[in-house]
Amino acid sequence: MKIICIGRNYTEHARELNNPLPGKPVFFIKPDTALLLRNKPFQYPEFSRNIHYETELVLRISCDGKNIDEDLAAGYYHEIGLGIDFTARDLQDDCKKKGLPWEISKAFDHSAVVSRFLRIDKLKNSSAIFFTLKLNGKLVQKGCSSDMIFSFPRIVSYVSKFITLRKGDLFFTGTPEGVGPVDRGDRLTADLEGTSMLDFMIR
Ligand code: MG
Repeated sequence: MKIICIGRNYTEHARELNNPLPGKPVFFIKPDTALLLRNKPFQYPEFSRNIHYETELVLRISCDGKNIDEDLAAGYYHEIGLGIDFTARDLQDDCKKKGLPWEISKAFDHSAVVSRFLRIDKLKNSSAIFFTLKLNGKLVQKGCSSDMIFSFPRIVSYVSKFITLRKGDLFFTGTPEGVGPVDRGDRLTADLEGTSMLDFMIR
């Protein structure tokens, strides 16, 4: 399986990193070795001094697809969870300055924290899905799917024009504003529609 991540999908987050708003979805891939599941602790890596959390809604792809029509894209995912797109911001800033790819800052081991999944059709309102992140009990990020620049169907359709989607692939759908650094000893807790989804430590 692969992890497809959408960048710059919330206006205020693009602004906080001084990025221009994209005209088309921006995406990158994390390998399956990036997964960190079941609230296991995240080990702060030695190669960075500025690891940032980015809290994101995560879709799980339910069947294979290629060149998916936007109108039909909602048939390719039925479950949603929360994830943390851990980013080595110092390495990413260096890559951006040099015009290099970002993999080193995004695709490293355990950089994709993923929660359990909920059925989208069981949620109160599947077109406005709220989520929050607390750092040591303090609210640092809150987002809603209705604030995304590119909708779930748009991003699934768009990516499938270039890359075949397989059952079990995950989509990280972008982070709202409020990203920031973590330290060893921090506790991250994330809720989706008021349901606890993530609760883990930085070691
Ligand atoms: Mg992200």
